[in-house]
Formats: sequence, structure tokens, C-alpha cells
Amino acid sequence: MSGMTADEMMALARELYPICRSITGDGVRATLDLISDHIPLERHEVASGTPVLDWTVPREWNIRDAWIKDASGKRLVDFAASNLHVVNYSAPLPAQRMSLDALEAHLHSLEDRPDVVPYRTTYYDENWGFCLTHRQRESLEAGEYEVCIDSTLEDGALSYGELLIAGESPEEVLISVHVCHPSLANDNLSGIAVATAFAKALRAQPRRLSYRFVFAPGTIGAITWLARNRDAAERVRHGLTLVCIGNDEGLRYKRSLAGDAPIDRAVEAVLESSGELCEVRDFHPYGYDERQYNSPGFRIPMGSLSRGLHGEFPEYHTSADDLSFIQPQRLAGALETLLEIASVLDSNRHFRSLAPFGEPQLGRRGLYCAMGGETNPADLSIALLWTLQLADGEHDLLAVAERSGLDFELVARAAALLEKHDLLEALDHPSGDHAANESKN
Ligand code: ZN
Repeated sequence: MSGMTADEMMALARELYPICRSITGDGVRATLDLISDHIPLERHEVASGTPVLDWTVPREWNIRDAWIKDASGKRLVDFAASNLHVVNYSAPLPAQRMSLDALEAHLHSLEDRPDVVPYRTTYYDENWGFCLTHRQRESLEAGEYEVCIDSTLEDGALSYGELLIAGESPEEVLISVHVCHPSLANDNLSGIAVATAFAKALRAQPRRLSYRFVFAPGTIGAITWLARNRDAAERVRHGLTLVCIGNDEGLRYKRSLAGDAPIDRAVEAVLESSGELCEVRDFHPYGYDERQYNSPGFRIPMGSLSRGLHGEFPEYHTSADDLSFIQPQRLAGALETLLEIASVLDSNRHFRSLAPFGEPQLGRRGLYCAMGGETNPADLSIALLWTLQLADGEHDLLAVAERSGLDFELVARAAALLEKHDLLEALDHPSGDHAANESKN
């Protein structure tokens, strides 16, 4: 495969891990730089204050250092040790002395998980704070501490990266990945690494559908992309967010809002035959950016592929979501599954029979000979008959596979064979999912 190996994906996650990302700032730029070592990202900078849908692009946040020091000047909580120690997007706080009582309101720890540092943000509410283990917090004695957050919150830009991989068809598959979490491996580095490898592999192979990859900060990044790309959004037929996809579990799929869109049926067909399937859940308007894309104004059928489910694994949004929590072979398994999904989407078309009155005479066309090399000729034979039977322009090949119980791959092979023998005609459905309702004369 000309994508990336498991070790190369892991190496990318390792390079990205120390960077302090946020919804804006140099951390996102440095992240896009590293992704660009593998795929040619188009970079976008959208100025702070720009209205985007119902939102406004926020100020740019950057941070150099932050600490809580004791009376002797020793750093007890240190940004340099882990960027999770500072509440992400914290407003600048000039070095000053503060009593523990005053500091308490700005400290975050997890009483029930006393050895991990929680990840906290304060994006749309100007504030500041520190995150620490509960053990660290309990060891703080009453008295004065020196506190400083050397950050800036200024007009600048929101950065995101995009890559369009053009196929024969202008119809697009959109892959969206958030790039705003700091040192957290499963939630978001696994998605970034797998999406980068997926893009790299797709670029190296011929394809019918076009693919668009968006690497953007969560929520505001997807909203910014949607605000600036209404035309492109109309060409998107299928979408996936890739999140929490590197931990040691099978794959989970959260359906699009529609629930039975081709992307939902394609992912479920691939997962069922791959042995990777852990769980399929219906859409829920919480999680990642699938909710922006599925919103009423866009209705992009966007599902979400993951392993861990946000909020439901104990390492979620804590320092325990580190590089040891993601597995190279799980990244590779996700990539392999995505390439299979891409293959299904590419060959899943609607066909119309060119000999619809009765059964065409297959023997006369040598189609029985074509079955000679099959390990199980009967299966291909049945696939040919099912495909012809449902070739009314209303059913796509996934529907043939679903109805017949045959593997999609076998059905796709049967359709290709019938097309080659001028028994089928592929229909283009410019309006995508709703196209089956349109008649073609
Ligand atoms: Zn998250």
C-alpha cells in the first residue's frame, strides 16, 4: 500500500503529541505543517472577527509558559511539563502572588481519578485556570503561591487545512478531523494520523468519487469551513468524522442523521464483513463535527467512525489519553477499513438493465464461461441474477447486497461483468441520496 505503515502513523502521532493545540494559534499551524509532510494541504487563515454562520471567528490564542510556584520559587504546576496543566485558551495572567483560597476557583482536578490531569477549555468564556492531579492539589498547603500564564489572546486568524483529491466524478466524500486538542493521543491524534494516511493512499490510486479532507479545529473550524464552502458542501454525498480511532477496541460507527444514507449502509456492510465491528449507534446530536454537517441547512450525511466513544472511556479528556493508549495496529486496521469503505462507495452505483424484459440469455453472452475460475461459481451466478433482477435504476448495489445477503464485493463484480456485456447501464445520480426518487428518461 502506498499510504503509511502502522509505524509511520504512530510516528506522526508522536511528533504531534507535544504541540499545544487550541481552536486558534500556532499549535494548529505546527500541526498542519507536520501533516503537510505527507500530503499537500491547502492552508487557510480566517481573520478573527469574521462572521461564520451564527458564530464569529475568535481571537487567536498562543502560549509560551505558565506555572504555579511555591514560596521557594519551585514550580509545582508547570506548563513545560505538560500543556494539559493550563486550561486551554486561558487569558493571560501576569505573574502575581495569590493565596491558595483565591487560586482554588481556578484549579481543576478529578477526585475520583486522583492520578490524572484533566483536559479543560475555556473557549467562549474569558477565564483562566490550571489542571492538576487531585493528589497534587491535595498536597498544596495554605499560603501564597506565585501564579503566571504567559499567553496572548489577540486578533489573528483561525487556521485549517484542506485537501481535495479529485476523482472522475465531482461528487465528493468529505472526511473531517478535529485538530484542536493538545497532548491527547486517541482524541485527536489518532484521527489526524489515520486521515493523513487515508488521504495519502487515496492519492496513489484511481478512484471514481472525489475526496475532500478537512483538518480543522472542532466546532468553530467545521462551522468556518461550512460558511466558506457552501458550493463544495452541495457536492458532498457522503461524510465521515474520524475520532478516537487508535485505542485497543473494535470499530464503532455512529450513523448519520438520516440513518440509512449510503455512507451508513457502506460502513455497516464493511464492518460486518471485516470482523472489526464493535458497535453501531444511531445519530445523537452530541459528539464531534458530524452535528454541524448534518444540520438542517446542510444535511450532509455524515457518520462518525471511532473505536473509543467520547466520554465513555476512562482515559477520555485526561492525561491518561497519552501515546501508550493508542496502538499502531489499531491505526492500521482503521486505515484498511477506510480503504474498503472507499472501495464500496466507489462501486456503489445505481444500474438500469438494458434487457429488462424477462431474463437475458446469459449463456449466449458467454457469462457462464466467466464463472469458470470462481471458487464458488454458484455465488457469482446468483449475484448476476440478483443484480439483473434489481437493475431498475431504483436500487444501488448496496441494496442488491442487502437484499441477497451476498458480499458487496461479489455483487460489484457481477455488476461490472454485466456492464461489460452491455446488459447494465450505470446511472449518474447528481442529487445523490435522493436520486432514487427521480426518474430518468
Ligand atoms: Zn475531545
